[in-house]
Amino acid sequence: MIYMDNAATTRLDEGVFETMRPYMLEQFSNAAGTYSFAQKSIEAIEKARAQAAHVIGAKAAEIYFTSGGTESDNWALKGIAKAYEKKGKHLIISAIEHHAVLHSAKALERDGWEVTILPVDADGRVSLEALEAAIRPDTVLVSIMAANNEIGTIQPLEQIGAIAKKHGVLFHTDAVQAYGHIPLDVDKMHIDLLSASAHKFHGPKGVGFLYVRKGVRLLPFMDGGAQEKKKRAGTSNVPGIVGLGAAAEWAEKHMDENMRAVSVVRDHLIERIENEIPYVKINGHRTERLPGNVNVCFRYIEGEGMLMLLDARGICASSGSACTSGSLDPSHVLLAIGLPHEIAHGSLRLSLSEETTMEDADQVVDALKEIIPTLRAMSPLYADFINEQK
Ligand SMILES: *Cc1c(COP(=O)(O)O)cnc(C)c1O
Repeated sequence: MIYMDNAATTRLDEGVFETMRPYMLEQFSNAAGTYSFAQKSIEAIEKARAQAAHVIGAKAAEIYFTSGGTESDNWALKGIAKAYEKKGKHLIISAIEHHAVLHSAKALERDGWEVTILPVDADGRVSLEALEAAIRPDTVLVSIMAANNEIGTIQPLEQIGAIAKKHGVLFHTDAVQAYGHIPLDVDKMHIDLLSASAHKFHGPKGVGFLYVRKGVRLLPFMDGGAQEKKKRAGTSNVPGIVGLGAAAEWAEKHMDENMRAVSVVRDHLIERIENEIPYVKINGHRTERLPGNVNVCFRYIEGEGMLMLLDARGICASSGSACTSGSLDPSHVLLAIGLPHEIAHGSLRLSLSEETTMEDADQVVDALKEIIPTLRAMSPLYADFINEQK
């Protein structure tokens, strides 16, 4: 099998699993216990909090553990909305946010909030001028993702943060694809809230965190116990949190070498696809791009057929995103960068990790060189196009 769907989830690192293991078996105590058996679980959580914070230059006390990226995004938008609605009810997001942000914003709209959705350019970047122009006296929050999960484009976070700060508006970033993969600094980038999820950087599924800058008011999202300084109720997922911390530390330690190694394979994939397969378009920014992301549209192709033929060769990849596949609508991200429906339908996302080899990349391109002509031979659109060329 060749696994090229690391933007959907990554493989749990074995070392990370080993650090989690004792907290599932011997050290199983509820961290809220008052006996000394619970103390070890409390200490493990606090160690993980410091590990998670260090990666982004935050303080441990500013990290709140959650069940993952979706919860963190929901909490950031809805928790800030509740806490600050006296200031105003206006929120700014980008058109290419993950559904966890997009649908949270829609939910706020139903509660009387106004949402400005910033368009992006053909590379998937928001315009700083458009952002500044969209800020109003009643704007409470700007939520713009650090890096896009489909096309890999990295946003100008430092400039976005500076604009938000200048206007006294809070800045949340969905950094689920970026955290542990590219450098992030909450102070340098003026980030007030940041979402991350462990399973996107070789940690376990079902655990993540929300970074909340000291002094920012955030109302709890769920009613219940007093965990996480009364901000996030529910028995702490001790093994998950320990795994998140270990994966964060590993990602930080190896970030430079991983970025370098993964982007070499990425660039090799892009180069071979562009040079060896006709009528393709690489999506996303050429340089401001996640090290592990390749997104390409093959004209006159249906993405679904392509994925099935890749799957038959043991290759895991995706078209659009995991959340949108299963529906026939093309991805909102590809439409937002200006692709027409018929081209957006033929998209392929190959997302790599440091485990992806050059040989994997070559095998995938070799497979595509067989699959694409086969599918095009069956496409009436391609037949029309060839006839027009004659
Ligand atoms: C995966 C992902 C999420 C959702 O995170 P989960 O932990 O799977 O809920 C949110 N935003 C982005 C950008 C993602 O890639």
